[in-house]
Amino acid sequence: MGEPQFRIDAPESVDARTGSPAPLITVRDVWKRFGTLEVLRGLTLDVDPGEVVVVIGPSGSGKTTLLRILNCLETVNAGTVTIKGIPVAAPGADGRPQRPNDRTIRTVRLEVGMVFQRFNLFPHLTVLENITMAPVHVRRLDPATGRARATELLQRMGLVEKAAAYPHQLSGGQQQRVAIARALAMQPEAMLFDEVTSALDPELVGEVLTVMRQLAEDGMTMVIVTHEMQFAREVADRVIVMDQGRIIEVGDPQTIFRAPTHPRTVEFLHRILMEGREADGGRLAKP
Ligand code: ADP
Ligand code: MG
Repeated sequence: MGEPQFRIDAPESVDARTGSPAPLITVRDVWKRFGTLEVLRGLTLDVDPGEVVVVIGPSGSGKTTLLRILNCLETVNAGTVTIKGIPVAAPGADGRPQRPNDRTIRTVRLEVGMVFQRFNLFPHLTVLENITMAPVHVRRLDPATGRARATELLQRMGLVEKAAAYPHQLSGGQQQRVAIARALAMQPEAMLFDEVTSALDPELVGEVLTVMRQLAEDGMTMVIVTHEMQFAREVADRVIVMDQGRIIEVGDPQTIFRAPTHPRTVEFLHRILMEGREADGGRLAKP
């Protein structure tokens, strides 16, 4: 498959078969192995512009691997992934995993922002420098505009007074909000979130989810891996349940959370609910 010679800020593409906007992200029958371990076993998924897709499933089911493939951090053994129609993952002509070329990687990193569970920020840079670095050096934004944009983002995150602070001077929740601001500063088309609240103290989770909720309301295309089921229920247009490298169930949040059909979904949701009760000191479990 050829790669595009140039990019223009064209109006949204329309799928000629359906007349609706073409998916921003397509995943077609993707397989991924680490050594002999089959981690993804034939995933197929479209994400439309403006859609919020929440991915849930037990640990080890392949959720992180999926997000890493979407951001060119992993290759695939079979299948294809496109972002805005640009092929970003596919095996090479010899059928073996192949790293995309540098130009593709750069394009994907411009279009897709990713926030991880932890270790997001550059520790030796201030909050403001963390946010302006990529826009100024990769997007070639002039530094003054970069700082203005960063300040505006920090305002949205409620962190404007932390611009000169270093990451270690911030709480985990503040660090994650800066990480989100940093990704947004690149003006991506889509954002990927991998359990961004899992490493946080419980009292800091809410402030990060609030920012993500706002982003969803603003129409950002998002793929979110999370164990925060109440949040998932509120923001998801679609919930995807993964288990052992497969998508076992897909649906709107009402269906998935109220009437899941796959026994493994039922089991998973039950387990998460029980863990939540334990974390809550058992208070919810009492009548
Ligand atoms: P999840 O995010 O759903 O917990 P992951 O995508 O992180 O699942 O991992 C799926 C499986 O792949 C796990 O068994 C994990 O140990 C394995 N795995 C992930 N990354 C690697 C890697 N780089 N090398 C070898 N095995 C890996
Ligand atoms: Mg994971």
